[in-house]
Amino acid sequence: MKLLSINDFITRIHDVTKDLGVEVDVLSIGTSRSGNVIEALKISYLPRRALFLGFAHPNEPLCEPIMEAIVQEAAIWQSPNNHECWYLVPVWDVDGALKNQAWWSDTVSIARMIDHWYRPDPSQQVEWTFPLNYGGIHFDQPLPETDAVRRLIDMSNPELLVSLHNGVFPGAYTLISPQGSQLAPKIRDVFHTYGLDPKMYSPIPYVETFAEGVFGLPHARLEIDYLRSLEPEGSLSFYDNGGASFDYVNASCMSLVMELPLFKWIGGALANSPVRRRDLVARQIKLWESLEQDLADAFADPELLLSDHPLLSSPRYFYRRRKSDLTTIKKGLANAIENDDLAQEADLQNYMATLFTVSTQYSQLFRGGGRYTNTAESARSELEMLAKDHLSELDTHIITNAGRAIIRHLLDGMR
Ligand SMILES: [Zn+2]
Repeated sequence: MKLLSINDFITRIHDVTKDLGVEVDVLSIGTSRSGNVIEALKISYLPRRALFLGFAHPNEPLCEPIMEAIVQEAAIWQSPNNHECWYLVPVWDVDGALKNQAWWSDTVSIARMIDHWYRPDPSQQVEWTFPLNYGGIHFDQPLPETDAVRRLIDMSNPELLVSLHNGVFPGAYTLISPQGSQLAPKIRDVFHTYGLDPKMYSPIPYVETFAEGVFGLPHARLEIDYLRSLEPEGSLSFYDNGGASFDYVNASCMSLVMELPLFKWIGGALANSPVRRRDLVARQIKLWESLEQDLADAFADPELLLSDHPLLSSPRYFYRRRKSDLTTIKKGLANAIENDDLAQEADLQNYMATLFTVSTQYSQLFRGGGRYTNTAESARSELEMLAKDHLSELDTHIITNAGRAIIRHLLDGMR
């Protein structure tokens, strides 16, 4: 897989527009918290008002090849007979992407990812600080990056919004607004065409399922209702983020969140290490409990609890919402814990995803000033071993082609 450093990616996008003869206006739409310019490309003479957001999360670089495919699509569609504009924001969370780029601008590996991983808590995520006023939660402090895209949405009034996210482990999916639900079978077929196994079940417990790998959007109001159902008396005091871009656009806008994976699954059989589903699940719960305990110990130190080190915001967020997280995790695994069957691929993938989340939280904690623990070390080395046996990087062309095919279905579906 070939991914680029942020500067190289921006240069590449400009070069591709020139090479393909795409007429582009480069707009500066705002300035990040660290003073970096946030750029948007305005491409005119296209059908439909569309907005494409890259690096909505700073640790999700698969937007790079997909953004390039979007420029190629614009080159095909651009015609004096068309009168709308597309806006492309190649690097929305530019500060965060610069912090992460060390793990993808050379060879991508689980070890490099853990060592250089940076993901802030939702209140510091550009995608999750749009204004929100629902169910007792009031948020009105968009980050400067969020405000830049908010102004762009106000100005462009998109009919189509595509926010480019990505996952790590096998299991491709998209999240789409209700008016896109009729496209669900086509999107599922795209995953099959390119050998990307779609996720069978939604990873988010409170959204609809339209097809394998095609689920409803995780609107903030749905999450708030869900959290209230877990904790009817709770204050949700940890909930300090806002809504997402798809919460902010008009309800008539077709919104899609793309979640293609970085890795594909190889050597699926678990014959060498037969393990029962319930044992794997028990280990998963134990991992979460160890993380929660280590976070509680770490944040008992007021210096760490109050530190404004950017790497600490995410582990601190996990610490603050540990009660509802553990409830959700245990609920999701309740059936499996009593299951005597041998573990299947999907069980191992879930287990590896837990090892990864736990390892990246520990990594951020240590790099932010916390102490190293035994669970951190064992989780990381177990994951590296499993990754060697079961994961391989996806070819960039698969990402480009699958991303492009989904966007074509969206544009065709709107005609
Ligand atoms: Zn994301």
